[in-house]
Amino acid sequence: MARHAPILIVGGGLGGLTTALALAKRGRPSRVLEGAPEFGAIGYGIQFGPNVFHVFDRLGLMDQVLAVADSPAAVLMLDALDGKELVRIPTGTSFRARFKYPYIIVHRIDLHNVLLEACRNEDAIELVADAMVTGFADRGDSVAATAADGRTFSGAALVAADGVRSLFREALIGDGEPRPVGYVALRTIIPIGELRADVPRDCVVLWGGPGMHIVHYPLRHNTHFNIVAVFRTSTYAERGDPASYRAELEHTYRNAHPAMRAMIATMDLQWRRSVADRDPVRHWHKGRVVLLGDAAHAPLQSLAQGAGMAIEDGLCLAELVHAADDDFARAFARFEAARLLRTARVQLESRTLWHAFYHLDEGIERDVRNATVAGWDEAQIFNCLSWLYDGAGVPNFAAG
Ligand SMILES: Cc1cc2nc3c(=O)[nH]c(=O)nc-3n(C[C@H](O)[C@H](O)[C@H](O)COP(=O)(O)OP(=O)(O)OC[C@H]3O[C@@H](n4cnc5c(N)ncnc54)[C@H](O)[C@@H]3O)c2cc1C
Repeated sequence: MARHAPILIVGGGLGGLTTALALAKRGRPSRVLEGAPEFGAIGYGIQFGPNVFHVFDRLGLMDQVLAVADSPAAVLMLDALDGKELVRIPTGTSFRARFKYPYIIVHRIDLHNVLLEACRNEDAIELVADAMVTGFADRGDSVAATAADGRTFSGAALVAADGVRSLFREALIGDGEPRPVGYVALRTIIPIGELRADVPRDCVVLWGGPGMHIVHYPLRHNTHFNIVAVFRTSTYAERGDPASYRAELEHTYRNAHPAMRAMIATMDLQWRRSVADRDPVRHWHKGRVVLLGDAAHAPLQSLAQGAGMAIEDGLCLAELVHAADDDFARAFARFEAARLLRTARVQLESRTLWHAFYHLDEGIERDVRNATVAGWDEAQIFNCLSWLYDGAGVPNFAAG
């Protein structure tokens, strides 16, 4: 296999596209195989901490990302039962001064399009849509991936960025389906003019309560409003009867603050997904194949960092592949060593937030939480977040 044979990347999500861009910056060609008929993203909002800008800055994408994103005035946590403000993370001037980069909210499609356009401008990146990979073979000096329609693609190595239900994770680790947490998520975007609920419109807000939460924020320069409702249920079915879903929703949020109930009334019942994550594991790589993003370390969304970690992975992996000069075993081992503890911490802290912070029942646990956070000031909150928001310290092998 020639030295600069392309690297196969399976999955054209945020992790896969970032990897392709970061490889291209080092002159390394890649071929991105996406199973969907077209490259694209599901149409909902997504949040990013300043840590992703350590990557976007290195890839020269700061201006393009900021043009489609907004910065909230603050990130708030409110008590779902009485509406009391529990935590306020100011994301304005002091946040920028502390973390160097902003906190952003953005339509996932808009961010995806920024990355896609950047990929299309790189000769070194080939984007192949409608290529659902169903099998692969590591031939020792190359890797072949086979698509559902019989096409075969060959590359020097293969990066599996194929998401939480990764085919490659099953082959490398074999730990089965993602681990459901007993909750479902509903997502809705409405024109902001249709928002009736009396809620802050310029902040990211998380209302936490017994077995339920809602996250909301504005999108697309305050023209739209993104609402995610998440609640505990034993009816995981992804398709069901809208009337019973509606009744379940009304029942679940019956004791919630009136503003939450007003938002619940607007929820679209079509997009309903079981919430699941993965256990942290080692051994993300074997031979010329490596897992990246959700395929390696999918977290719950409590810290809003799953895509952030996939994006950090992409730059880190590309730098290490570049530095290892086609010694993929070495590059992949260094990649796992660099990324394991940080991503595992995101997975574990996300679980802790989920079970021991966001969804507490009325009673002493909730009272302790509320009393504890009442003593937090800005400096303390920023210190708590610095391990995450200061970025991953991805090596820069500019000198080659
Ligand atoms: C409700 C919710 C809210 C979230 N909010 C946030 C947030 O605010 N901030 C944040 O950072 N993260 C958030 N996340 C997490 C985030 O969505 C994921 O961590 C992120 O999308 C992972 O990116 P990825 O590129 O690894 O995988 P994915 O985005 O899942 O992309 C995988 C791609 O691979 C393709 N694919 C899959 N199998 C194959 C195959 N066999 N062959 C070819 N292509 C294949 C898929 O079509 C897809 O395009 C949230 C998640 C949920 C569920």
